[in-house]
Amino acid sequence: MNTQLLHIVQNMPKAELHIHIEGSLEPELIFALAERNGVALDYPNVEALRAAYDFHDLQSFLDIYYAGASVLLKEQDFYDMTAAYLAKAKADHVRHTEIFFDPQTHTARGVPIGDVIHGIHRACQEGPVSATLIMCFLRHLSEEDALATLDAALPYRDLIIGVGLDSSEVGHPPEKFARVFARCRELGLHLVAHAGEEGPPAYIETALDVLKVERIDHGVRCLEDAALTRRVAAEGIALTVCPLSNIKLRVFDTMKEHNLLQLLDAGLVATVNSDDPAYFGGYLNENFVAAFESLPLGLQHAHQLARNSFTASFLEPEKKQQFLDEVDAYFAAFNVV
Ligand SMILES: [Zn+2]
Repeated sequence: MNTQLLHIVQNMPKAELHIHIEGSLEPELIFALAERNGVALDYPNVEALRAAYDFHDLQSFLDIYYAGASVLLKEQDFYDMTAAYLAKAKADHVRHTEIFFDPQTHTARGVPIGDVIHGIHRACQEGPVSATLIMCFLRHLSEEDALATLDAALPYRDLIIGVGLDSSEVGHPPEKFARVFARCRELGLHLVAHAGEEGPPAYIETALDVLKVERIDHGVRCLEDAALTRRVAAEGIALTVCPLSNIKLRVFDTMKEHNLLQLLDAGLVATVNSDDPAYFGGYLNENFVAAFESLPLGLQHAHQLARNSFTASFLEPEKKQQFLDEVDAYFAAFNVV
């Protein structure tokens, strides 16, 4: 393996656009928060909890993911979790991150939504990298629940830049959430949705046509539909791809079979992201390294992926250009135009 290329990829300036903050909760922090909050866990120690991360599909992952989130009760817990992620992001040369959070995972346990949002937001404001928040609705719950969550979040409207749709995809098509996304659009929020991970390419289509999302989270199954692929490329819709997550959840059997290169070759604005880094085996740089070690990706792909991460972000145009200039200057040193 080209170690110089890996070094370049690890050190390049980049943005992360698909990270669930609850999925950055490491077993050590889960145990620390459980002790602080007097929450009993089903696991005797950190090692036993890590060993339980032996899931094989989206649902078995989600089961343990929600168990881990049960230790989050106070504003300070959300702050600590977010601060820990931002420190990791900084170490991976992330310049900007758009963080997903799942309020329903917490409000269902009686945690006030204000504590969730304030804790995460406070860490973002104090954090070492640029960070904004995207509130996600859990798609296995009803649209009424999502609408009630949106109402509860309205006092904090200025602290979030957009909304997304996550959790169990199959059987919960985007159109189930048409009304709540229409309301969010009226509120001027950015719109994204998970689609085409375990669910079919048709979910990508309805996420675009019915929900009117600006970005597709995952979207790797896009390539199964040639017409859809051409459309997504022509419209410049970005895909927030998560390589290690895709392997862990068996969307692809091995990294060598991952379609990241084909997505780029098809002219799609593909980006690399960590999804749920504590659960899937790595933060952003570990995702880049895994992909570059297994796929025939070169320096120009690295440059493209770094550019895509900022192009696909919801940053203000000026700020976006500033980061793109930084990327280009970084790669200029390696004679790549
Ligand atoms: Zn995700």
